[in-house]
Amino acid sequence: MKKIQMVDLQGQYAKIKDVVDPSIEEVLNSAAFINGPKVHQFQENLETYLNVKHVIPCANGTDALQICMMGLGLEPGDEVITADFTFAATVEVIALLNLTPVLVDVDPVTFNIDIDAVKKAITPKTKAIVPVHLFGLAADMDPLMALAKEHNLFVIEDNAQGIGASYTHADGSKTKTGVIGHVASTSFFPSKNLGCYGDGGAIFTNDDELAHTIRGIVNHGMYKRYHHDVVGVNSRLDSIQAAVLDAKLEHLDNYNDARRNAARKYNAIFRDHPKITIPSGKEECKGICDTCDCHVFHQYTLVLKDVDRDALAAHLNANGIPCGVYYPIPLHLQKAYQDERYVESDFEVTNHLVDSVISLPMHTELDDEQISFITQTVLDFIDA
Ligand SMILES: *Cc1c(COP(=O)(O)O)cnc(C)c1O
Repeated sequence: MKKIQMVDLQGQYAKIKDVVDPSIEEVLNSAAFINGPKVHQFQENLETYLNVKHVIPCANGTDALQICMMGLGLEPGDEVITADFTFAATVEVIALLNLTPVLVDVDPVTFNIDIDAVKKAITPKTKAIVPVHLFGLAADMDPLMALAKEHNLFVIEDNAQGIGASYTHADGSKTKTGVIGHVASTSFFPSKNLGCYGDGGAIFTNDDELAHTIRGIVNHGMYKRYHHDVVGVNSRLDSIQAAVLDAKLEHLDNYNDARRNAARKYNAIFRDHPKITIPSGKEECKGICDTCDCHVFHQYTLVLKDVDRDALAAHLNANGIPCGVYYPIPLHLQKAYQDERYVESDFEVTNHLVDSVISLPMHTELDDEQISFITQTVLDFIDA
């Protein structure tokens, strides 16, 4: 059996090497390392893939989030509501810009931001909501957009884990995640569903004016060379990373299908186990997201009941199976983001999830032998 990895980037690279290598070499030979033709080519191809008017590449997913907030003109003291159960980058940039992060609980079934909790957290100072399509599952955008419209708020989608997923609207139509809110950020960190071979990120929007503002912000606030109209940042996707991403974009749907296939196989084994809850989605997916494209399984995450999670993780590791706990500490309890306004009883779901979730290996190269070994090793421990 091939060595099991959390993410198998070498295996994936071996299959596309004959396309990626010449594409990188083209950049090396042209020496157009910054803002070269590969960056524009990738930008246009991603715009077409997402069906969005503007993709603005930048240096990483954290920058992308920060630039979204700068572009919207959010100011110190403005409150931004986001999920307590996510990667810290989301809340980090809010705090960094001297905006006020307002963390709210997540839904116990989808792990995505809880709409009722958002509703409760809205104040006259609230300016934006940041839903995260966590683990690759589209957050419930229709009610969120309706709520945002009612209160005149911006919606910034953190799509770092959800690229390629689709959200199914109430009327049955579908939109790709990242194209539903006013603006969205994504990350091309190597382990993400569309990952480069270094750091990278992008911003998406259908708003022409906002796109223009953001294009200046990523480039030192310049709209005309050496005229700095606003305070900006230096955040660029380099041409070598764009070459990698453009070669991989063609495979993104297949990659996400491979992840869904692996999830389906895991689900088939774990579905009826009394101590395991498999990843679930909205009702339309019959509660289990192995049937449609609302989930692209950035992570495959189980919720355990009456199982010593950390002992299971140790058992898996001892058998050569890596696993992860995303995320072990709620953001509202992180030293940097504590706030006396938070009340523990408002974070019941997140407080429970941090102690009971475990993520199994999930990537494009998992084979049946590996999946059988992983599922059997999990069950050996849980049923012992
Ligand atoms: C990875 C990630 C980010 C940050 O992306 P980087 O490219 O690492 O800066 C932000 N938000 C979420 C939810 C992520 O998973």
